[in-house]
Amino acid sequence: NYLETLSQARYVVFDKTGTLTRGVFEVNAVHHNKMSQEQLLEYAALAESASSHPISKSLQRAYGQEIDRSRVTDIQEISGNGVTAKVDGISVAAGNDKLMRRLGIEPIPCHHVGTIIHMAVDGAYAGHIVISDVVKEHSKEAIQELKRAGVKQTVMLTGDIRRVADHVAGELCVDEVHSELLPADKVAQVERLLSNADGKLAFVGDGINDAPVLSRADIGIAMGAMGSDAAIEAADVVLMDDDPLKISKAIRISRKCLRIVYENIVFALGIKGLCLVLGAMGIANMWAAIFADVGVMVIAVLNAIRALRVDNL
Ligand code: ADP
Ligand code: MG
Repeated sequence: NYLETLSQARYVVFDKTGTLTRGVFEVNAVHHNKMSQEQLLEYAALAESASSHPISKSLQRAYGQEIDRSRVTDIQEISGNGVTAKVDGISVAAGNDKLMRRLGIEPIPCHHVGTIIHMAVDGAYAGHIVISDVVKEHSKEAIQELKRAGVKQTVMLTGDIRRVADHVAGELCVDEVHSELLPADKVAQVERLLSNADGKLAFVGDGINDAPVLSRADIGIAMGAMGSDAAIEAADVVLMDDDPLKISKAIRISRKCLRIVYENIVFALGIKGLCLVLGAMGIANMWAAIFADVGVMVIAVLNAIRALRVDNL
């Protein structure tokens, strides 16, 4: 079923973080007003200690020290926004400007280009951490290959800020980009595309804040290596090495398999039908019947073996 749907894919929708980009953020700058840079980073790493989001992992790596989880309580992750927690009994929030506004705190904008993690400590704005990600080595080529494989439209959906999203989309030449989306907005965007699509729609993601879309699309493709268990569960196709170039390869494999299937069906039924007619007219003998049965089966199996060769695609 999935091979058949995949072979008809005309729209490919991507998540950004962890799918087109590596999902490994570097800390570029720390802007602080109340406490030292180290302390701000420590609060961020502790508050993020329970999350599996690529941003959390990166902040923990940037902090670089052993995290004492017993100092952190009341952790709450708000998908597409960030996290709130209590560190040593003090409330800490780390996330985007949506999270700050939700908490009634006015974030200070930053002139740096990058994903900005605003921090609030003890109910007051405490600064922000600017992080950035790099696109995967094969992302651009992957988009071009999809076009060559007959995909009509490529779309990128992300929860990240507009500036970063537009920059990545421009670099990769995707046709359409939508940013600052919550998980539910991603579903709404995919539903809008599905409603005026003439062909199947594939969604590619890592399952962090996009598992609902993975199951909503006609075909869900997940990152197997860095993706979440939820993604692998919700997806129909899993890329074991997270290489987006494999999407066009999967489409080509599916088309080749289906072509072989149809060739075999037409061939087998054709020969059998011909033998039936010839038999009824008294022309076909026992040997023709054996060929129509076993011979056709062997030829069909030999033809199917061609599906093993995919490197020349
Ligand atoms: P994407 O669609 O690019 O995969 P997400 O939907 O996962 O992005 O997240 C969108 C935005 O929400 C992030 O860019 C970040 O600003 C914020 N965010 C989400 N989770 C976290 C977190 N654990 N810590 C801090 N910020 C977060
Ligand atoms: Mg994501």
